[in-house]
Amino acid sequence: MPINKTQALVLRTFDFRETSLIVSFYTKDFGKIHGILKGIRTEPDKFASTLEPFSHNEIIFYQKKNAGLHLVSACDLKNNFLSLRNDMYRFGHASFMMELLDALTPLEDKNEAIFDLTMECLSHMDMNINYEKIPTIYKIKILSLSGFKPHLNSCVCCNDRILSQSKFSNYLGGLLCPRCFKKDVKATLIFRGTVASISYIEKNDLSNNLRLGLNPQIKRELDNLLNSFIEFHLEKKLKTQRVLPYLENVLEKV
Ligand SMILES: [Zn+2]
Repeated sequence: MPINKTQALVLRTFDFRETSLIVSFYTKDFGKIHGILKGIRTEPDKFASTLEPFSHNEIIFYQKKNAGLHLVSACDLKNNFLSLRNDMYRFGHASFMMELLDALTPLEDKNEAIFDLTMECLSHMDMNINYEKIPTIYKIKILSLSGFKPHLNSCVCCNDRILSQSKFSNYLGGLLCPRCFKKDVKATLIFRGTVASISYIEKNDLSNNLRLGLNPQIKRELDNLLNSFIEFHLEKKLKTQRVLPYLENVLEKV
């Protein structure tokens, strides 16, 4: 059984019997993996981490071939993102990002760019740098890195350049020109500024994206479009996606 050491973010945990914990991690070197931490519930000091969701840890695990559940022998906490964890708004959005990461990625499929993007977004949210834009940027970037990138360069049906008005089709996964509107009656009109913002965010790194001005109308359309695209392709609404609007509403009134 090979022994591996890697950086890992906690996606979810499940109690296993009276003593142990099964943890779903997103790792830098192996993608998403499931590991068991034996004895952690009866001997909490056995591991140097409390395994809280989205905490950054360094883990050592024995890789079991074809088992799907690996034995984690060490788990050291590197960053618990304490500032982010203590703010309800940022905590809610970070939880959404982790649920999205979990839903979009298959087991044991290494994607270092996705790990680095998630780490960078969590670190910026923790440092409180322009954090309102980060969930939107994260959605666009992770869709692109996980193979769900919407087709925006031309009409997804006839490949013609889009010169005027366009609609976005979740079903066809991209823009429709006016001649092809009838191909998806559920497609919705989209501002040119929204399309340009998605293309800009896909091509640029996080620091450049954080400097991008997003007017409230475009930000709202971007979020609505991305949420319905994600929901359509996952064939479900994420739990955190259902809770976030209530959370934002409550926080606005505080
Ligand atoms: Zn067309």
